[in-house]
Amino acid sequence: MSMVRKTQVPECPIRKPSVVPYVVLWSGEQAGPEDDLVVQLGSGGPRLGYRNERPEDRAGSDQVLCGRVEQAWGSGRPLYDSLHVGRQYVAMYSMKCQVCGQPASRNKDGWLFLDWRKPHDPPTWPEGSLTGMPPLCEAHARVSIAECPYLRDTEFVVLRVRTPRLWGFSGTPYTLTADGWKTHECDALLPIGDQNLRGLLASRLYRELRNVTVVGGGLAD
Ligand SMILES: [Zn+2]
Repeated sequence: MSMVRKTQVPECPIRKPSVVPYVVLWSGEQAGPEDDLVVQLGSGGPRLGYRNERPEDRAGSDQVLCGRVEQAWGSGRPLYDSLHVGRQYVAMYSMKCQVCGQPASRNKDGWLFLDWRKPHDPPTWPEGSLTGMPPLCEAHARVSIAECPYLRDTEFVVLRVRTPRLWGFSGTPYTLTADGWKTHECDALLPIGDQNLRGLLASRLYRELRNVTVVGGGLAD
């Protein structure tokens, strides 16, 4: 069983025929074996952990366990429907462009994101939208709108976001049983502070897009 599954959330990285986006997973980048997962007992109760765990295996104030995937960008072929756990985290946490990995665009109205309606979004969408897709630089936002086949069939908005607040994680939820950790096929999306993060093998960092300005199909400066 793979430790990293495709999320149920209908989101895909931007596809660009001439350049493979920074956040995309390559077929040569192998996930760590599920056998590495162990039960850790602490003051707060049992939590998911790795044997031979390293500090960089955990993220955020909840110390969420992150899926292990090799870093070998360019190895094999790009898997456009999957994101690399580590590179998605870096781009989302550090506000790097999801295509080139350079700093994302920011102006007086905020950071540049593309967004579309998802099942977990509030009625106020795009205000308050939850997204696992990192921001973009201006050049790659333009190219993405022009070339991404997914966006061609989807109502999307170009946003400036003043407050892209760290919100939580999606990933594979594990439940502790008498036989050890068990999981289901469905991904979970959990906010920071949720007790169930103790059993989550995280695959994506999410931000909540607050104080958004819709700049339409154009890129307003
Ligand atoms: Zn870029």
